[in-house]
Amino acid sequence: MTGLPKAERSAAGAPKVSFVSLGCPKALVDSERIITRLRAEGYELSKRHDGADLVIVNTCGFLDSAKAESLGAIGEAMAENGRVIVTGCMGAEPGLIRERFPDVLAVTGPQQYESVLDAVHAAAPPAHDPFLDLLPPQGVKLTPRHYAYLKISEGCNNRCSFCIIPRLRGDLVSRPAGDVLREAEKLVRAGVKELLVVSQDTSAYGLDLRYAESQWADRTVRARFYDLAKELGSLGAWIRLHYVYPYPHVDEVIPLMAEGRVLPYLDIPFQHASPAVLKAMRRPGRQEKTLERIRAWREICPDLAIRSTFIVGFPGETEEDFELLVGWLQEAKLDRVGCFKFEPVAGAPANELADPVPAEVKESRWRRLMAAQREISRKRLARLVGRRLPVLIDEASGPVAKGRSRFDAPEIDGAVHVASRRPLRVGDLVTVKVDRSDDYDLFGQAV
Ligand code: SF4
Repeated sequence: MTGLPKAERSAAGAPKVSFVSLGCPKALVDSERIITRLRAEGYELSKRHDGADLVIVNTCGFLDSAKAESLGAIGEAMAENGRVIVTGCMGAEPGLIRERFPDVLAVTGPQQYESVLDAVHAAAPPAHDPFLDLLPPQGVKLTPRHYAYLKISEGCNNRCSFCIIPRLRGDLVSRPAGDVLREAEKLVRAGVKELLVVSQDTSAYGLDLRYAESQWADRTVRARFYDLAKELGSLGAWIRLHYVYPYPHVDEVIPLMAEGRVLPYLDIPFQHASPAVLKAMRRPGRQEKTLERIRAWREICPDLAIRSTFIVGFPGETEEDFELLVGWLQEAKLDRVGCFKFEPVAGAPANELADPVPAEVKESRWRRLMAAQREISRKRLARLVGRRLPVLIDEASGPVAKGRSRFDAPEIDGAVHVASRRPLRVGDLVTVKVDRSDDYDLFGQAV
């Protein structure tokens, strides 16, 4: 034991790690796990590459543009520091990384937390200090304190033709319900107000476990989408469901939304509406049935906000297919829509499909879809003018603040701009009277 006070000891001896996290919310959860472990072992985080003992780059390898961004981040880390560990989705292709950067210290694949830690230990051994206890009870979160992503499973059993995630991450592996609920409970106790449930395929949760029961609190809980959503809804936080594949049993959770147990929000990446394109994508293809289901959901839960993503310019997409999609959107009146132009992903079966759509056609379809959706979004939001909505504050500065209603997820959806007589703080849950709306946002007064 040394005579130094704890802060000085850690400042003097702890190795510093600079961390770059790229990609989707699921990758962010992986980053949080790695950082939590490193902090528990006494490592310090550095905001800059230079001066750190090493750099970890958590990469995204989904689209070619994401790969380019990842390679750029690795290049930057090599130039500024030179001691670099690469992990994440691109880690599944070590040859590609080593070809460009032969001197990286280690390359590990997605979810290989132990290999990342082993590589860190080898490159910068932890400072042994039994007094180091730097870990807050909820772990380290890269998202602001008032919301957190909760990962319930890894991998995916579907085989969408444009996607290589099952190849990178394998088939579905769910976490036992008790584990997920314990993590959720800890986060809520630590002050998290909103839990964003993520996975590759949230509604398939538990299938691989055969819906096994596990212990949580004084009861057993089955690893089933409905059971988990219901129990999460008892924790007193906002529960938001992301990446829900449109299986029939999704219908079961809508009453939980109507009861206010989980947020009236469903993020379902429909991807397209034309049966021919959906078939080529290897996605469920009965979109007229889906329209009926959306109508039924809204009857049970009139406030339900539906978010989705679509791909335009998929190989073989004709003008009729595209018009069918826009017509479907006009009927479905989804609240939030993200749209991507098809981009080939190395190794995805869709690349072999005939009839690629020319870049300028993709661009023009993307613009047309976004314009149609802007109009739908404007009308959906206008319905909310005059209502009083609970709003979770994300940013606050004096008498103005920016937050989100139950209908909007952080980072991807719209915002509520709030004027307030009393100062608001990040993480406050306030009631806002909505005065006006525009294409994507709401504006109102805290009451
Ligand atoms: S549902 Fe389809 S797009 Fe999503 S991860 Fe699975 S295979 Fe990929």
